[in-house]
Amino acid sequence: MAKKSIVDLVLVKDFLDTVGGPDAITLVKICENKKKQFTDEEIAKKMKKKVTEIRTTLNRLHYRGIAVYQKSRNQKTGWYNYTWEIKKDRIAALILEKEKETVEKLVKKRNLESDYNHFDCTKCSERMPFEVAAEYNFTCPSCGSQMSNANDPKKQKELDNQIKKIKGEMEILAKVQ
Ligand SMILES: [Zn+2]
Repeated sequence: MAKKSIVDLVLVKDFLDTVGGPDAITLVKICENKKKQFTDEEIAKKMKKKVTEIRTTLNRLHYRGIAVYQKSRNQKTGWYNYTWEIKKDRIAALILEKEKETVEKLVKKRNLESDYNHFDCTKCSERMPFEVAAEYNFTCPSCGSQMSNANDPKKQKELDNQIKKIKGEMEILAKVQ
């Protein structure tokens, strides 16, 4: 069985697309399989893209510390050669840092969703504690619609699933070296 790539994870795909652009996912996947260092020309050939396009993606990834290069002078031509390497551990670390915050926010939202003391407007985004809603006779002060109890098991379950999914991928990423 082929080794599972971290690029198969939704968190990694989204992240690479955001920080590296549309070519980043494929580029990282190829480099992950190659393992050794590579030149931008090699990657361009493999992806059937222009070298300048590959360099743009590499520079974006370099900015975040994901792609690192080594410079060496070609003795014959006097030109510099750049060999690149993708740091998987850096990808994992950046995502873990970001997703830790996302999970915290989702858990907060989840807890609020199971809070019986809050009332939501059925039409707009108004939300208030029971005491205030009672004062308004459970009629939204903004739009006049009915206010209903914020406790929504379906929404809670959705959030639970979302949290579980992210945490599952985070566990895999925590093992990346
Ligand atoms: Zn309203």
